[in-house]
Amino acid sequence: MKIAVIGSGVWGACTAYHLQKEGLDVDLYDMWGAGNSRSGSGGASRIIRLAYGEDKIYTELTNNSFEFWENLSNKSDRKLYHECGMLWLVSQDDSSYITHSAEHIKNCGQSISRLTKKEAIKKYPHINLNDINEIYYEEKAGALLASRCCKSVVRKFKNNGGNTFIGEVKVDENNLDKNDIVFNGKKIKADKYIIACGPWGRKLLPEMLGENTYISRQEVYYFSVPNNKAVEFDLNSMPCWLDLNENNPSYYGIPFHLNKGFKIAYDERSTLFDPDTSDRIPMQDLVDRTKSYLYHRFPRLKGLPISETRVCQYENSLDGNFIINWHKKNNDVLVLAGSSGHGFKLGPGLGELVRDIVLENKEIPEFFDIKRLESNDKSSQYYNSQIKYNKRKRLFN
Ligand SMILES: Cc1cc2nc3c(=O)[nH]c(=O)nc-3n(C[C@H](O)[C@H](O)[C@H](O)COP(=O)(O)OP(=O)(O)OC[C@H]3O[C@@H](n4cnc5c(N)ncnc54)[C@H](O)[C@@H]3O)c2cc1C
Repeated sequence: MKIAVIGSGVWGACTAYHLQKEGLDVDLYDMWGAGNSRSGSGGASRIIRLAYGEDKIYTELTNNSFEFWENLSNKSDRKLYHECGMLWLVSQDDSSYITHSAEHIKNCGQSISRLTKKEAIKKYPHINLNDINEIYYEEKAGALLASRCCKSVVRKFKNNGGNTFIGEVKVDENNLDKNDIVFNGKKIKADKYIIACGPWGRKLLPEMLGENTYISRQEVYYFSVPNNKAVEFDLNSMPCWLDLNENNPSYYGIPFHLNKGFKIAYDERSTLFDPDTSDRIPMQDLVDRTKSYLYHRFPRLKGLPISETRVCQYENSLDGNFIINWHKKNNDVLVLAGSSGHGFKLGPGLGELVRDIVLENKEIPEFFDIKRLESNDKSSQYYNSQIKYNKRKRLFN
């Protein structure tokens, strides 16, 4: 069977790798290459963690991904995965997101434990926990070096005999029944096509994805750490963290890494973004807001400057859950979309799922079926709190 995978972000790359490993003839296309700066998978790092509230499908896909990332990291000359743990700071009253997660995490053979404030203050003296209600720690969690991971997966795919092509693939959705998928002026000939183009997906397939996905602008900052104190704030001394907070955007961070700085970003899906035309320059009001949060939460970093920034995008589905579907105009075209700002960690697990859908006709989980968006307004539990926040602030329709 000949397979064409369009898009070598983490989803396309892992899918191509798993299919090729089964002995299939796989071609992988990307406009600019794996983990490029404009893609959702670009940039230095991503958090991997198991807690997903009620949505156990993500906990399981993430759990299925650890071994792949660990092997990739162990066999690489540069570390790709740092298992530093994950700290959940719950400043909102409702901690059901974590309590719901606990059972699913346990079923995967992993754990999440509650820390008393006293324990947490002793363990993490550089975090201001005064206004935090509850604190939880996930041990099997950490940071993936994102763009490096993506490139390594593609390198492995190529070493195993996979083919890569750099350039734009054009899709005519109106003529998809005639396999109108073109590269360099020629139709791509394949038995199955997998379209995993992240934020560009809705441009290639406007009929299917145009009204079911939207792209939001996200800023990421790296802060300087005190001179001679980098070790105190690095991945060996501190876990990744997320502040679950309904009154503010949920801030999250990854300790000092790659000599860049102490990473902090926020989860808010309120400003639309075009991956082709929007400038990637931070906005002063968001910078100020982030500084004020960071200096409050990490007082030892107070007054320290930003050393690096990034502006990137989330490719959101309307309910924050992934979309996996055969295109209704062509049963040989599988579409992967709606990674909604949380799709990196579980790329390998998702790639295995797609392999089984393509090779073994495994049924696509209903949870990922785009049809749900016609009738069902149930969002992922995490996403719900974000939408509440955005609605309250009148940032989101
Ligand atoms: C700031 C930020 C923080 C995040 N934090 C986390 C986190 O902590 N943990 C986590 O799990 N996830 C996180 N995510 C989400 C995660 O990074 C994304 O969900 C994931 O990387 C999306 O991967 P993808 O393969 O779907 O899309 P992409 O990585 O965007 O890949 C799509 C690819 O398709 C290619 N392409 C597009 N159109 C064409 C075309 N016409 N022809 C050829 N190629 C094309 C592009 O060049 C691109 O490489 C974060 C995302 C952002 C932006």
